[in-house]
Amino acid sequence: MRPLKDTLPRTGDKLLYVFYDFETTQNNEYTDVAKLHVPNLVCVQQDCSRCENVENGADCVRCGNRKHSFWQDPTGDLLSYITQPRPWANKNVAIVHNAKAFGFNFILNRAIQLKWKQEMPMNVLKIMCLKMEHLIFLDSVSFLRALCVSCPMRTV
Ligand SMILES: [Zn+2]
Repeated sequence: MRPLKDTLPRTGDKLLYVFYDFETTQNNEYTDVAKLHVPNLVCVQQDCSRCENVENGADCVRCGNRKHSFWQDPTGDLLSYITQPRPWANKNVAIVHNAKAFGFNFILNRAIQLKWKQEMPMNVLKIMCLKMEHLIFLDSVSFLRALCVSCPMRTV
């Protein structure tokens, strides 16, 4: 019998991790007591298996420039960037901090407009993650708190 090693066998998935954060304006009334958040900037940093342990976001020989900012159409530009063809990656995992506040909403609204098929495991009424084809959007806060049986990280 083969001895166990301290690392799990590779699944064959070639991953690109994209960490993003939206900045928004709140100049528009949504209700009498709420303002509408409108994205005006999204900051992105990415890691692939070659650069995941390289500090300071230095450029990578595989995935290139690891830091980006999009402000023309933050949501659309982020999705365009994440969905660019990359022969060395077959899954893109996008992680946003505290997505349940509104980080998923911009992505989900655009996906619905584009008629992209989504899967959304939910925890009570909060979206835990959002899956579309080879894209997986995760909320860092939800996954730090709840490593559960239905955790989508298990299928990544
Ligand atoms: Zn890289």
